[in-house]
Amino acid sequence: MDIKKQFIDGSWITSASEAIRDIINPYNQEIVAKVTESDATDAKKAIAAARHAFDHGDWPAAPATDRGKVVHKIADFIERDREELAELESLDTGKTVEESRGDMDDIAGVFRYYAEMADKDGGEIIDSPIPNSISKVIREPVGVCGQITPWNYPLLQASWKLAPALVAGNTLVMKPSEITPLTSIKVFELMEEAGVPSGVANLVLGPGNSVGAELSASDDVDLISFTGGIETGKSIMQAASSNVKKLALELGGKNPNVVFADADFETAVDQAMNAVFFHAGQICSAGTRLIVEESIHDDFVEALVNRVKTIKLGNGFNETTQMGPLISQKHLDKVTNYVENGKQEGATVAVGGGRPDEPELQNGFFYLPTVLTDCTTDMRVVQDEGFGPVITVEKFTTEEEAVRLANDSIYGLSGGVFTNDIAKAERCVAKMRMGTVWINEFNLYFPHAPWGGFKQSGIGRELGKPGLEEYQETKHIFQNLKPEPLNWF
Ligand code: NAD
Repeated sequence: MDIKKQFIDGSWITSASEAIRDIINPYNQEIVAKVTESDATDAKKAIAAARHAFDHGDWPAAPATDRGKVVHKIADFIERDREELAELESLDTGKTVEESRGDMDDIAGVFRYYAEMADKDGGEIIDSPIPNSISKVIREPVGVCGQITPWNYPLLQASWKLAPALVAGNTLVMKPSEITPLTSIKVFELMEEAGVPSGVANLVLGPGNSVGAELSASDDVDLISFTGGIETGKSIMQAASSNVKKLALELGGKNPNVVFADADFETAVDQAMNAVFFHAGQICSAGTRLIVEESIHDDFVEALVNRVKTIKLGNGFNETTQMGPLISQKHLDKVTNYVENGKQEGATVAVGGGRPDEPELQNGFFYLPTVLTDCTTDMRVVQDEGFGPVITVEKFTTEEEAVRLANDSIYGLSGGVFTNDIAKAERCVAKMRMGTVWINEFNLYFPHAPWGGFKQSGIGRELGKPGLEEYQETKHIFQNLKPEPLNWF
């Protein structure tokens, strides 16, 4: 099996450490690839290449239209190689190929969206209060960007960082999750084919505590953009303080889904399933806290449980599979303990709550889709991010109580409200402290709208115009058209 390499200064190279990591298919634990394992020395080399390309290369000052054309080409190549990329993503994460195909369409859309935006914001002249002057505001790239991504949506999360960084004229070093690097490696090949110049985009592979920590702490990195868990985010924030790096953090969520009795029942049940069971619940915006009006609680839970029992687990490459495995044994252990703790706290397992029995699923990291009832907001299982196919159910009787329960979290990434009373929905979402709120919908996103968290779900925004502005510095240029001495001193 070929050893997949890192990409530094326009060359595909193995790490001098000679370490190699096996990449495992979480469906059956088979080795699907071998990759070179970078270390801090490789990260330093990649940072130096990005620094040189930023300080001395043509990319940062190239016409924005030219950068846009290159990013359009990347989108073209992702569309061309959609099936190969989708299969790699499913081999690496275990998610169904159908989900991965959808991811690839979204990813091409992200590159396309930012490519279109490249030459749309040339700055602005502002109305100067000083006579005989011109005052203008322009945008420039931030510099060298360190980009660290998680394993749950490997290429999607990478695209939210790569596309705006390139369009804005930055140079970058990306470090994907060490357990899911395959689609990132492939997209760096596509970026090379699209004509991204040497040194502009560099890829290092390997663990967070060496390679990621080097990116976060390096004085030659100007911005660190991180998507991942809250504790890692905190340590990156500390390391980034060494040279006061710009910081963008996309962290976890424990997202409420509020269902009022007047909601369309079938739709709300269906969406409650979509909210939490896509990609086995390994989604930062998963609607893991179901908050249901008491008068429909029992009927709702019954309908939900009946639907959950029909979810088909299996190989993501089978067309009939609806849910794949969790990412790793470590993560399976975490989800198992999370549910066991919930039971000890008084939660009732209405369905699921363990591993499936089917012999063909025993080599994979499968966990049954699980509904926990009798949950209250003081339980850890309601407060902590489990990141598995597990939904907790709470009850409410008044609108105020629903909003209070929805907001009772250290996180503030996303939330949903289901009701046919649109005024009530608007009142609720106005009070919900989250970066994205859906009315009669859950988990939908598109590149045009910003994405990010309130509270401890993060700092900054990806996607939309704010997602580009993360990668831009704003410069005010003031010109005196009638220079003369002030004679102040
Ligand atoms: P993680 O924090 O364990 O790892 C994320 C990345 O950080 C990996 O590349 C890892 O190698 C790296 N890393 C680990 N330690 C590091 C360190 N000390 N310094 C620098 N880098 C380090 O997260 P994960 O388990 O890969 O991903 C799951 C988490 O990601 C969940 O909490 C989920 O909510 C979050 N997430 C958030 C969003 C969002 O948009 N807000 C999207 C996807 C995932």
